[in-house]
Amino acid sequence: MAEKIAVFPGSFDPITLGHHALILRALSIFDKIVVGIGVNTEKKYLFSVETRTKWIAETFKDFPQISVEAYYGLTVDFCRKVGASFIIRGLRTSADFEFERIIGQVNKKLAPEIESFYLLTAPEYASLNSSIVRDIVINGGDASMFVPENVKITPNILIE
Ligand code: ADP
Repeated sequence: MAEKIAVFPGSFDPITLGHHALILRALSIFDKIVVGIGVNTEKKYLFSVETRTKWIAETFKDFPQISVEAYYGLTVDFCRKVGASFIIRGLRTSADFEFERIIGQVNKKLAPEIESFYLLTAPEYASLNSSIVRDIVINGGDASMFVPENVKITPNILIE
């Protein structure tokens, strides 16, 4: 049977425990997961793509089935490039659902051969998102309880 390869796309600015838990759960469904850091040249990020990539690679260093790669352009084109037939997304709230519904249906039009999968967030992570972590960091707080252990956020790591 063909290997089931999935892309988990996002900004991961930075990766949180919510992303981490979701990726580990998805491992029971897919043979390989490529964490895709989508780079949108219009968007401003707090952490460089190199730092975000390094953090994800370190977080999953013991999982050869999980890799990380940054990409420009459409997520469906990135899926085709890495041979993925699946896209994984997380659903935290009904607002997530409405947002994901539009993206999912557009992706289906663009690439009918790619199937999107949605995993409900574990309740303990439903209120966690990268923008809260960024707010804490920007305001000088300690966000370490919200991110994987190897993600060491120090002031000198922020993009100017
Ligand atoms: P985006 O740039 O699309 O907002 P994110 O990096 O915030 O991307 O998130 C990427 C994916 O991870 C999305 O599918 C999102 O729903 C999911 N996600 C974000 N936070 C959590 C969380 N706390 N628990 C589970 N999934 C999450």
